[in-house]
Formats: sequence, C-alpha cells, structure tokens
Amino acid sequence: MTATVITGIAELVTNDEDLEGADHSEHLGRLHKAAVIVKDGLIAWVGPASRAPEADRRRDVGGRTVIPGFVDSHSHLVFAGDRSAEFAARMTGVKYDGGGIANSVWATRAASDDDLRALVVARIEEMRAQGTTTVEIKSGYGLSVEDEARSLRIAAEFTSETTFLGAHVVPPAYVDRRAEYVALVTGEMLSACAPHARWIDVFCEPRSAHAFTEEEARVVLSAGRDAGLGLRVHGNQLGPGPGARLAVEMGAASIDHCTFLSEEDIEALAAASDTTVATLLPGAEFSTRSRYPDARRLFDAGVSIALATDCNPGTCYSSSMPFVLALAVREMGLTPAEALRAATVGSAKSLRRNDIGVIRPGSRADLAVLDAPSYLHLSYRPGVPIASTLEERGRHGS
Ligand SMILES: [Zn+2]
Repeated sequence: MTATVITGIAELVTNDEDLEGADHSEHLGRLHKAAVIVKDGLIAWVGPASRAPEADRRRDVGGRTVIPGFVDSHSHLVFAGDRSAEFAARMTGVKYDGGGIANSVWATRAASDDDLRALVVARIEEMRAQGTTTVEIKSGYGLSVEDEARSLRIAAEFTSETTFLGAHVVPPAYVDRRAEYVALVTGEMLSACAPHARWIDVFCEPRSAHAFTEEEARVVLSAGRDAGLGLRVHGNQLGPGPGARLAVEMGAASIDHCTFLSEEDIEALAAASDTTVATLLPGAEFSTRSRYPDARRLFDAGVSIALATDCNPGTCYSSSMPFVLALAVREMGLTPAEALRAATVGSAKSLRRNDIGVIRPGSRADLAVLDAPSYLHLSYRPGVPIASTLEERGRHGS
C-alpha cells in the first residue's frame, strides 16, 4: 500500500498525551505546522512538518486544522417516517414522554429493506460531511423479532458498533403484558439480534409508562451479557431514576443522557470512571427544550464524559457533532478542549475503543479537517459547516 503524507496542517489535535514536543495543555497533544503519514488506513507517523519522512503521496490541507474524526457513540439511524409535526407540537408546549416512538415503529416496519438502507446511507453521509468517522447505530424502531433483526442487519452494513435496543419502549400491544414483552426481548428477539449486534441497550426510565423499570432493565441487560453483548443504558433523562446506578452496578460501558443525577449517582460514576462513561446528549435537551445535564459538575467530580448526537426522529433529529460541541460549551460549561475530547477520545472510551478518537502511530487514520486555524472555532462558530472528514474533503477538493 502507498503511504500518504498530509501536510499544511496549521494545528493538529492528536489527543495523544505522550506525543513528544506537543503542547499538552488541556490534554490535547497539539502540534502546529504538523504532518501526519497515513498507510494502510492507519496512522504511521505524527510530527512537525519540517521533520516528516518521505512518502509516496503528498496531500496539502492548506493551513487548516486536523483533529481526530468525531466518534458519535449514540445514534438511532434506522428509521422511516417523519415526526416533524410532533416537534412542532412540542415547541408549543406538548410534553415529551417517549410515546411518539410508536409512530416511527409503524413507518419503519412498513419500509422496504432498500428504503431503510437508503435512509441510513443519507444520514451517515450527512454525519461524514460534518466530521464524524465512527458511528454507533441502535435498533429500536422494529420492536418485533423480525424487524429488530432486520434493523441490525442493515446497521451492521455500515458500522461494527451496532446496538440491540429491543427494549426501547414497551410496544402498545404489550402495555398490559409487559412481562411477556421482556421475555420476548430476552428470548427469541435477543437470539435473532445478537449475531448482528455488539451491544445491548435498554431505556430504563420508570417515570415513563413506555420505558422500563429498574428490575426489567436488569433482566434485559443480564440476558444481553449472557449472550456475549456489551452493555449500554438510556437513563436519567426525564427525571431522577435508577439508570446510572444500574449501569455502574452491571459494569455497563455507558450510561446515556444523565440529565438528572443525584450526588450518589455522580459519586458512583466517578468511582467507576474506568468502566462506565456518562454519555451526554445535549441535542436532545435542545430539541425537547429541557434542562441540560451539568457536564461541568460531572467533569470536576472525575466522571468520564462522552458527547454524542442521539440522532433520532423524535427527540433530536440532528446528525451534527459540531452542534453538540457548541451546546456542550455554551450550555453545559465545558471548555472547548474538554468538549472536543469528550466527542472523540471520550466517546471512543464509551465504545471501549482505543484505536479511534486519537491520532497516534497505529491508530485508525480517521481524520477530520476544520476550515479554521484552530479547534476553538468548532464552538466559536456554531452552525457554520467548517468540519468534514478528510475523505469528504478529498471528494470535493481541498
Ligand atoms: Zn437514544
């Protein structure tokens, strides 16, 4: 394979805390006037442009900033249908309680494989155009054995980070037979889905009649673990609840949302920071006009933090990691550097990956380019399309 040297990098953010000669303030491992050599899809060399070894090809990014591609560790991309009217209603004061998911379920079940696949392709292209190089995709709009397995089969065509979320909501047909639905999810549905999934997830939110109780969530997660899947939890989104504590107790890789956490929850997450990451999804708070999680407090308490979009048709139909970063800085009190780390190396940790979210020899050559002299512009210029993946930029020319 040929090696390509990428030059013209005004600022390079590596997240590599061991990189020699780098500016290590705020743990970004920053170099100015840098070069990177890419070979066989991996990073082969990182350093000052003046010391770059020869390579077969040269690519000049023209004085831009290069960062690790964003790792969007929480998305729900496999769905059909349109729920914009529900969003409009919510903006006039109708409250979100998780019930609208059923609308996406009908539309998703009715869509053909090709239609669903085309929708996922378009959403992933949208993400790449904004600098995302890894995406986790959940099922959860099928809610039958056949439709959940189909969603995961399609998701697995695009990412190895697939998550079985049969326990997204209790389908309307099972409202009076909840135990039967949990048995289906942990039995036949899990067997059909596990071959296509790396993770299992559950919406543990006892305040919502549509979501799952602590006990139900524990049963779902235990069954997933027995089937060899890693654990993730949706919790503490709509109010205080057991999700975060359950995630820590079961050694889940991630507890997602974390909008309402008690002191005890934060202490437990801080103590489990090597194992369980708090994934914050401020796009959901933005789109449901809810209060934001207190990222500053979590960070200062020593909790491991990730940022992701939660891209989904109901509570946040945004695929934009730069938008999420801007919210994290403006609304949740993170510094631009903390937000960038949470959206790259932090979200990689929530997927238990150390080959992404960082630019160091041996890591994947997943790079994003910013039309800016510094990473600070990500949150300084909200809504401006300055970020894209390096491949995306190559397609449209530098
Ligand atoms: Zn979600």
